[in-house]
Amino acid sequence: MGTNRKPSPEERLQQWIKPELFEASAYYVPDADGLIKLDAMENPFILPDELREKIREVISDAEINRYPDPNACNLKKSLREVMDIPEDMAIILGNGSDELIQIIALAVAHSGKTILAPQPGFVMYKIIADTVGARFIGVDLNCDDFSLDSEAMLSAIDQYQPAVVFLAYPNNPTGNLFDENTISEIVNVAPGLVVLDEAYSAFSEKSFMQRIEEFDNLLVMRTLSKSGLAGLRLGILVGPALWLNQLDKIRLPYNINTLSQKLAELILSQYEILQQQAEIICANRSTLFKQLQEIDGVSPWKSSANFILFKTTNTSADIISAALIEQGILIKNVSGNFPALKDCLRVTVGTEDENEAFVVALKLAISS
Ligand code: PMP
Repeated sequence: MGTNRKPSPEERLQQWIKPELFEASAYYVPDADGLIKLDAMENPFILPDELREKIREVISDAEINRYPDPNACNLKKSLREVMDIPEDMAIILGNGSDELIQIIALAVAHSGKTILAPQPGFVMYKIIADTVGARFIGVDLNCDDFSLDSEAMLSAIDQYQPAVVFLAYPNNPTGNLFDENTISEIVNVAPGLVVLDEAYSAFSEKSFMQRIEEFDNLLVMRTLSKSGLAGLRLGILVGPALWLNQLDKIRLPYNINTLSQKLAELILSQYEILQQQAEIICANRSTLFKQLQEIDGVSPWKSSANFILFKTTNTSADIISAALIEQGILIKNVSGNFPALKDCLRVTVGTEDENEAFVVALKLAISS
């Protein structure tokens, strides 16, 4: 008879959960109930009635007793067309691009390997690196305009030999596009993969999609989340089959559910609707930027995405953020995320009315 006593639930947890997980933190999503939601870069517009009627039909006809097409072939065809994906490039779809980041990390950046990204940047690169046991190295952007510090990037790549470099283009939460030549140089010197995360491409005039073939270690990632389909969770990874055939082994079978496939196919057949909405968002971004520039105590950065980062110069971002919530408006307080973002807030560009309500509330928050 063993004399070992039964471990307490707490002891069992300590024994079996990976030690890194105790240190890691989950991605925080605040409760937005009843608030004007300008925190998550969603498209604020709904689809036209006619299309919504067709959506109802597609949902009722969907064979949800069957597994989905494991390779989402029809959806990939639609994506190729609307995103002008080069014919000889392969595609992997993810349940959001978050899942694609995880697939990449699991495939190449296991323990002892490095994932590198500029910072301030998209927080999921580090969160996912932590959960797969990879080392995460953040390289500071230039602190005035958040451009890439090319010398620091190249020397960090040389020193840490990263398995993957993630570059968000435009960058989140700063909204700027990095210099094209610096990106090319990074791809050329990187020993492993470089993933250009074009999550905000719908609002930006630049892309590397047509340049993937120039390199043999570049992947371009997109998402439909920011263009109006956040609820469907569809991320797109494009690159040479040589790499993607291996990454695809990590993807779980049937990861893109039937409704997401069918609805995305339908909506992409009228892609011009999403494009027109993106154009309105870009126009609203210009108006909002000017309005922010005119407020004393607020200093915004130019953005190529559907959000604007701004600094509060007289009142702390924490106070402003709380005052906005009290007035029914939720934006993202990024002040605590990185030292370079002290007193910075990020607002998603919404409808004209939402932006107006935000500007009124912000002025009031600053003046009181
Ligand atoms: N990349 C970047 C740069 C992002 O900002 C986001 C969303 N905030 C994502 C990827 C993830 O998008 P999704 O999982 O919704 O496709």
